[in-house]
Amino acid sequence: MVFDLDGTLFDHPAAALAGLREWVAGRGGTVGPEVERAWFAAEERHFAAWREGRCGFQEQRRRRLRDVLPLLGLPVGDDAALDADYEGFLRAYEREWHAYDDVEACLAVLAERGLRLAVLTNGMPEQQNAKIAAVGLAGRLGPVVTAGELGVAKPDPRAFAATCERLGVAPGRALYVGDDHAVDVLGARAAGMRAVHLDRRGLGPADEADRIEGLARLVDHLADAAA
Ligand SMILES: [Mg+2]
Repeated sequence: MVFDLDGTLFDHPAAALAGLREWVAGRGGTVGPEVERAWFAAEERHFAAWREGRCGFQEQRRRRLRDVLPLLGLPVGDDAALDADYEGFLRAYEREWHAYDDVEACLAVLAERGLRLAVLTNGMPEQQNAKIAAVGLAGRLGPVVTAGELGVAKPDPRAFAATCERLGVAPGRALYVGDDHAVDVLGARAAGMRAVHLDRRGLGPADEADRIEGLARLVDHLADAAA
């Protein structure tokens, strides 16, 4: 069983929103719906640029701030100023880190079944391992494989293949669980894995046959999986 991290085990959307509000409040502003939407749209757009190798990891952070700071009436500084701004957001984000409520019960079922676990996440090893440790999951999820260390990101099938290799399981016997249909589900299937779409917010696609709205239903999809 291979898990995505952000939006799957780790509640990134809630932490990012709370962190954004806290950070902006500290700068004397407030986050309305327009800024909220712009923040997540910028994250999606510029994180995809990093994922596809079109910019560096720190640069995608700066690009996100260049999009959003003007909406907050805050100055867009040089790279060093943007990095300092992002550090401010990061500290607030980190204070809000938590796992989803359904993770513990799910891990208990998987342990009972004796399934081997791994994580494959599009991120940098330091930050992703810090998240896992902060929410009490260190050492409990098997190998944690990151796009940052692989040099290739989901949905590239090579990222999934490398993770199965680390697990010592053929892709056809491993199940991937992730919240991003295009990146996680289609990517895993392109690598020969089975995949389940964890659609926590009910956004679809509704015609996905292997779709669950919470980890409690994952047990329905475990047949024949070795990992
Ligand atoms: Mg995710």
